[in-house]
Amino acid sequence: MKQVLLVTGSSRGIGAATALMASRRGYAVCINYHSNAAAADKLRAQIAGEGGQAIAVQADVGVEADVLRLFATIDAQLGPLTALVNNVGVLEQQGKLVDMSAARLQRVFNTNILSYFLCAREAIKRMATSRGGQGGGIVNVASGASRHGAGNVYVDYAASKGAIDVMTLGLSKELGPEGIRVNCVRPGIVYTEIHASGGDPDRVSKLASTVPLGRGGQPEEIAETILWLLGEQSSYVSGAIIDAGGAR
Ligand code: NAP
Repeated sequence: MKQVLLVTGSSRGIGAATALMASRRGYAVCINYHSNAAAADKLRAQIAGEGGQAIAVQADVGVEADVLRLFATIDAQLGPLTALVNNVGVLEQQGKLVDMSAARLQRVFNTNILSYFLCAREAIKRMATSRGGQGGGIVNVASGASRHGAGNVYVDYAASKGAIDVMTLGLSKELGPEGIRVNCVRPGIVYTEIHASGGDPDRVSKLASTVPLGRGGQPEEIAETILWLLGEQSSYVSGAIIDAGGAR
């Protein structure tokens, strides 16, 4: 059966590594991005050059109309979805709650929480056996931040990731009878551009010595975990939250 995967927020970082690795393992892939069309198209071209099938679709996954358009495009261009990686995530300038605007909180919660629910809902419509689907897999990318709360830097981001831990547990129970496994990966500190958004581009190197394994992670190391959770090798795993953070 053709495996069709959507990775939200996959023009860069962990999402891009996941999309590329998935293509190399036989998935047709939808790359989703917000504004960096050049990065998304470069990845799409790389996958096509390797003989894979990929499309790149601009959509703000925190906006319902964009999500509906994204899924309709996948239906038309790749065929029935079999797997979803809810990967998109943003954080904003480091600071304390007392200085955070409602607009910032709304942006973080829309992107990091609402998008996961909207994309999962649309995926369920296509994958659930009670709706004629073949079942499938959902992997949510949360964060080790939900274990320590990220006080003084981005408590809003950490709390949004805690919501995804809980969503994973609840949806795994709701969707088991539908043939859909739902799991979660919580990365630790990984070398991507997300840290620049918080005003601390060198955060991973700075904190590397606090990681028991002695280093920051690479996006490919998270992608491996995500793809294991999507694949047959983990066929009896659902509702799991896996920390990929070097024991930090
Ligand atoms: P990143 O390098 O900053 O990449 C973010 C990606 O999300 C980009 O492709 C970006 O698209 C896309 N994006 C942002 N807002 C979007 C929106 N509203 N709609 C659609 N796409 C959007 O991030 P990353 O570090 O790879 O993080 C991936 C996931 O891992 C996130 O959920 C993050 O919270 C989690 N995580 C990361 C770390 C870490 O240390 N890196 C640690 C723990 C958890 P454009 O290119 O168009 O901007």
